Parts: sequence; C-alpha cells; structure tokens
Amino acid sequence: MKQARSDQRLTDGLQTVMNNFFEQAMCQALGDRISCEIFRVSQIAMMLVDRRMSIVAVNPAFTRTTGYDFYEVMGENPRKLSSGIHDRLFYETLWQSLLDQGSWSGEIWNRRKNGEIYPEHLRIDAIRNAQGEVTHYVGMFTDITNEKGMQKRLQNLAFHDTLTGLPNRAYLKQRVNELLGEVNSGSALLFVDIDNFKRVNDELGHSFGDEILRIVANRLQAAVRQSDVVCRLGGDEFVIVLPDLTDVARTEAIAGKILTQLQSPITSGDHEIGLTASIGISFYPKDGEDFESLFQYADVALYDAKGMGKNGYSLYRREMSTTFRNRLALEKDLRLAIEGGLIDVFYQPKLNLVRGRVSGFEALARWHHPEHGWIGPNVFIPIAEDAGMIDSLAEHVIRRAVRQVRDWSLQARFPYEVAVNISSKQFRTGGVVHLMQDIVNVEGFPPEQVEIEVTESQLMENSRQSQTIIEALKSLGMHIAIDDFGTGYSSLGYLKQFHVDRLKIDKVFVQDIGTPGNDEELCDVILSIGNTLGIKVTAEGVEKREQFDFFSQRRCDELQGYYIARPLPWDQFGPDGSFNTGVQQ
Ligand code: C2E
Ligand code: CA
Ligand code: CA
Repeated sequence: MKQARSDQRLTDGLQTVMNNFFEQAMCQALGDRISCEIFRVSQIAMMLVDRRMSIVAVNPAFTRTTGYDFYEVMGENPRKLSSGIHDRLFYETLWQSLLDQGSWSGEIWNRRKNGEIYPEHLRIDAIRNAQGEVTHYVGMFTDITNEKGMQKRLQNLAFHDTLTGLPNRAYLKQRVNELLGEVNSGSALLFVDIDNFKRVNDELGHSFGDEILRIVANRLQAAVRQSDVVCRLGGDEFVIVLPDLTDVARTEAIAGKILTQLQSPITSGDHEIGLTASIGISFYPKDGEDFESLFQYADVALYDAKGMGKNGYSLYRREMSTTFRNRLALEKDLRLAIEGGLIDVFYQPKLNLVRGRVSGFEALARWHHPEHGWIGPNVFIPIAEDAGMIDSLAEHVIRRAVRQVRDWSLQARFPYEVAVNISSKQFRTGGVVHLMQDIVNVEGFPPEQVEIEVTESQLMENSRQSQTIIEALKSLGMHIAIDDFGTGYSSLGYLKQFHVDRLKIDKVFVQDIGTPGNDEELCDVILSIGNTLGIKVTAEGVEKREQFDFFSQRRCDELQGYYIARPLPWDQFGPDGSFNTGVQQ
C-alpha cells in the first residue's frame, strides 16, 4: 500500500517535470512569452502542428478535452485523434480548403484517449513565415458534446452504420426486444447474406464493394414497408424484422421479392454484376422469444439456405439445429485432424496404356474419425473450404503424397507421376503456387512428374485469376488435367486457352459402357477432342472388363478405376510402388 502510494507520487512528480519541460519546448515553438501565456490559459483546446504534420505543442485545454498529455502526443500525427467516422472525401475537402484558403472550420468527430468518440467544433489555420511559406498549422477546438440536440445525434451515431446509414446491431437488439413486447401477433426475422460478396470485394475493389452495400441497403428498404426494420450487422450481413407478421406465405413472398430486387444488375464503370443472396428466416414466438434466439435460429436457417445452393431462403426448422451442431462439431474435429497431421492419403494407380505399365498415382485424401470411422473427401473437403482450412489440408496431402511417390520412384528407378486434386478456393489466394514452388525447390520433386487436377467449373468460376495461377503452375513445368470432364462447362475454348495437358473422362460416362443405351459415343467424342487438340485422355472409374477393353482398343492414354486398383493406403504398396490388387497388368 505504502509502496503503491510512493510510486504514484513518483509518477506524478515525473509528469510535472515532463510537462514543465514540454511547456518550455512549447514556448520555444510559439516564439514569444505573451502568445505562450495565452496558449496556456485559453479555455479553447489548441494544438500546434509543424509542416511535416507532427504535433509540436498542445495546451492544457487540449489535455482536458482529449485526455492526452503533451508528452503523449508530441511528434505524433494528429491522425492519432481521429475517430474513423469520416471518410477520405471529408479529409480531402478539409485539406483542399487549407491549401486554397489557408483555413478550414467545421464540425468533426474525434476520439478521446479513453476511446470515447465526441464532436468538436474545429478551426485550423495555416501559419506562414515572412516569405509566405507555411511553417505550422494551428488547430483550435471546443468539445460540443453538451450542445443542444447533440445527445440525440450521439445516440444516432452509436445506433447507425456509417456506410449505409442503416441502423446497426446495437439498435436492432434494443428495438427488436421492444417490438416483441408491443406486437399483438407474431413477427418474422430475416437474416440476409449476399452470396460470394468476398469475391466481388477482392476482384472489383473495396470502394465498389462499399457502393454495392449502399445499393443493397436501398433495395432492401425499398422491398419492405416503412414500419419494418432493416439493419446492417456488418460486412455483407443484413437483418430485416417484419413486425406483426405470422403468415408464412406472406413472409416467403417478401423473401422472394427481396431476392428478385437484389438481382437487377449493378453497373460501375466497365463492370456489371448481378447479386444473389441467401436468407434465413425465424418466427416469433414459434422459434424464439427474444432477439438473441430469433437471430441464432435465423442464422441456422441461413446456413441451410447456403447449403441448398444459395440464391434462396430457408425457414428455420428444429432438425436444422442438429445438423448445424453436427457440422460445427465436425468442423472442430477436422481442424484438429489437419493440425495434428491426421489426414491420410490413399493412392490410386493410373495405368498408362501407351507405356504398358502403372506410371503414376492419384493422391486422394481420407480422414479416419475416432467416432465416425472413415470419412470421404466429398464430406470433409467442402467443410475445409468453408472454414478456410483448405490450404493447410492441401499442403499436408500434397507434401505427403510427393514424398511417398518420390520414395517409390527411387526404389523402382522409374519416374512415377503424382496427380493431386486442387480446390477452386485455392485459386483465390494463389497460395498453391508457393506450395508447388516449394515442392520443386525444397522437396526436390521433378515438376514434370506433377499433375494438377481441377474441374472445368472450378476453372471457369473465376477465369481471370485461374488463368494467372494455371500459367504460373505451368511455367514451373507442371501438368494440368481437367477432372470430371464432360460434366461441367460446355465451351471447349478454355482447353486451348489454359494449355490443358489431360482430360479425365468422368466416371459416369465410363460406367455406362457395356450396358444398353450406353455412353460409348460420348466417350468417343471426348477421345477425338483429345486427339485433335493433342491433349491426353484418361478414363476414370473403369470397373469392368468391357470398359477396360473399350478404352484399350481406342488407344486411350491412361486408365484408372477399381478394375485396375482401388485407392489404397501407402502400406498396401511395395517399396517400389507395386501392388497386388486389381487386374494383372
Ligand atoms: P475425383 O478427383 O474425381 O476422384 C475420383 C473418385 O472416384 C475418388 O473418390 C475415387 O475413390 C473414386 N473412384 C476411383 N475409381 C473408381 C471406380 O472404379 N468406381 C467408382 N465408383 N469410384 C471410383 P474419393 O476418393 O471419394 O474422392 C472424391 C473426390 O474428392 C475426388 O473426386 C476429388 O474431387 C476430391 N478429393 C479427394 N482428395 C482431395 C484432396 O486432397 N483435395 C481436394 N481438393 N479434393 C480432393
Ligand atoms: Ca481427381
Ligand atoms: Ca474425377
């Protein structure tokens, strides 16, 4: 206790010394004793800034208003005080006025040391020397928090989103809980989330993204009644509350109307984009009796709407919560499995008909869950994609596969190829290029023995970005294969554009061969496309002798499927990559 008090006295003393020191520095900056005195006693907060925008002096009124002592702001840019409320345009106008007229005055919102935002009336003047050059700027301001009407504006600010002008989450929570007490019947809560908004932002820039959010805000307001509440929660998430509405059909009609209104194209410069959204809906009092639970259930329903393919709405149902919880639990387990390196890789041999031998392996991810047993990639890859874990999953799988195939190659004295699957989400960041570079440089794996499998739709989803990444991978010397060929995109121009090396005929076409009304013709067409364009073709999903014969006779380059071998764990292969299952080669 005694110690604490004496420490306090010490810091008080230190502060007095420092303040005296800085006061002297300030007087020096101000030039003469009289101006220094005026500066010191003034009730108006003052700040002197040099040409390089460093604070060189502040007065005691400044400290009282902002909470900052001189020594805490000396040498700092006045930006330290900014509240973040004003946009760039505001500061640009301020500076223009300072440059043109030598002064600016107006109302500005700044932030105190304790984090509180407050309004002040500010006047800034440029100070010039005898030669007319600006040497300093002096800012004088008074806190106007207590002026008439200001409290209301302050509250407004705390309750509004500055980008769209819509009420924010804090308002929503308060208002909904009030409303629920007032309504006679029920109410509906709609949670609206723009589909793929992140991509728009990444590709077209944040200012276009902001513009879109403002347009969305207007469209949402236009789609509902004035008495309905439209809020922006942040990002691309909006909530609409429809009071006194229990009619499911009417709510669905409104959700439909919102989706239609959002779809009309938005243009900005050269860009024109169409938006879609997903909506989750919950009802008061059926689903929940307060804001928190209604919001949570609408969120669960939103998740369901996204899972149904987006651009639609879902009404909350009890069963959804179980699915949602299961999925969350699975996501958590998957994260642990990826971090712990517990994702396995199975290898499916690829039989090269030209060389008459197995010439490579496709790496397929597998997860052995402690409770649920083996889980296939069709289940956990989408989870990894959504939860932002796909890059680390891919890194783990690809490194492991490359090391394994390198060992087999060394033992067999044969340059086995490794084929790896890439998700389109990995195209967004370009992290896959660094990973592949690392595979070549650090793992020392020959790039010409790596084949990267992507599906058509993945390539076309974001073709400009995909092209850059594909080009980078190709320039490393790696090959590109189109997986599930024939199921996605109809135009073939991209095959040349991307300099594709291989087409993998999707197993649905292969599996019909040998049955009446089969897909032989389609397979023939794909083989001749490959032939004409000089692209190799693999038939995957070869399960039967007839299918094997069909492709052997047609000089298909490569076969893959249970008939040759199932995907197997590494320990089912010999040290040279040989294996015992499937057909005799
Ligand atoms: P895919 O790339 O088309 O892989 C072929 C799938 O067909 C594999 O399923 C394989 O086990 C199965 N298959 C192979 N031969 C036959 C056959 O003769 N008959 C039948 N009916 N099926 C056969 P799997 O391993 O369940 O993988 C499913 C999909 O998951 C893969 O389809 C691939 O798109 C994706 N995938 C697998 N591993 C990874 C990975 O590490 N990363 C990414 N991004 N995707 C992966
Ligand atoms: Ca594949
Ligand atoms: Ca495939």
